[in-house]
Amino acid sequence: MKVLNFGSLNLDYVYSVDHMVKPGETLASFGMNTFCGGKGLNQSIALARAGVPVFHAGMVGGEGKLLLKACKESGIKTDYIRTIPGQSGHTIIQVDKEGQNCILLYGGANRSITREYVDEVLGNFEKRDILLLQNEVNLLDYIIDQAYERGMMIILNPSPYDSALDSCDFSKISMFLLNEVEGEQITGENDAENMLEKLQAMYPKARVVLTLGGEGSVYQYKEERYRQGIYKVKAVDTTAAGDTFTGYFISSVIDGVPVPEGLALAAKAAAIAVSRQGAAASIPSREEVIKE
Ligand code: ATP
Repeated sequence: MKVLNFGSLNLDYVYSVDHMVKPGETLASFGMNTFCGGKGLNQSIALARAGVPVFHAGMVGGEGKLLLKACKESGIKTDYIRTIPGQSGHTIIQVDKEGQNCILLYGGANRSITREYVDEVLGNFEKRDILLLQNEVNLLDYIIDQAYERGMMIILNPSPYDSALDSCDFSKISMFLLNEVEGEQITGENDAENMLEKLQAMYPKARVVLTLGGEGSVYQYKEERYRQGIYKVKAVDTTAAGDTFTGYFISSVIDGVPVPEGLALAAKAAAIAVSRQGAAASIPSREEVIKE
């Protein structure tokens, strides 16, 4: 059984500023760092650090070598990543003295996925292989349809939620991993209990994992329901908590671990990520999670 994550690869250009730049203003920043990220890449890194051999598919453009290097350093298989002319997906992030940020996102190569490329990548996978998706690449509806035709198990993290998801056939999804914001957008409910009930009614064949930030997480499938609290840590930076949780929970599904243990493993890994600064850099290895 092979695991494919078809998702975004972003360069995050982070600028330290005295204040957020205003309309018409030219502002000198006093520091700059480049990080590799994107929900797609972060979740592949989480899978790889959890010990899952993962193939990543997606497109990169200029400075794509940095993204490929980040993948390789984390043990992600890059065979299906395509380099195209133009810009890689990237963000321009201003961080002020209070730690507040402003983010400008450009999809770039992440939004250049073609049907021909999807067919070529999926041609390497077969029945029961696992496909993980987020909502940061274009043609998600086509990817879902083609993977379903092949009999792949499709896991969707519908994040960030936007209208592109309206054209996707969610009845083809085997597992949703989502947070309360996305849960509300799909169901129209704002209470976790009602969200879970409605998700089960709408997509009875899907397993649902709803993460609730500091309130933990809940798993629901038919009559089965498990709750998991958080591991208490000093929260330093919650970026990539959800991506870490997703990677680790999927690793437990692949290993055939009972759901309550899988939730606990994912919560532990996410808590470690929360206790550290950064996105991809904060995602722990399996050894770290196990010894905690
Ligand atoms: P993000 O977009 O920041 O990556 P998310 O909104 O997708 O996150 P959350 O529901 O905020 O995901 O968090 C995912 C999991 O991370 C939670 O279910 C929980 O186990 C863990 N977590 C989140 N916040 C904390 C915290 N303050 N302390 C410990 N664990 C946390």
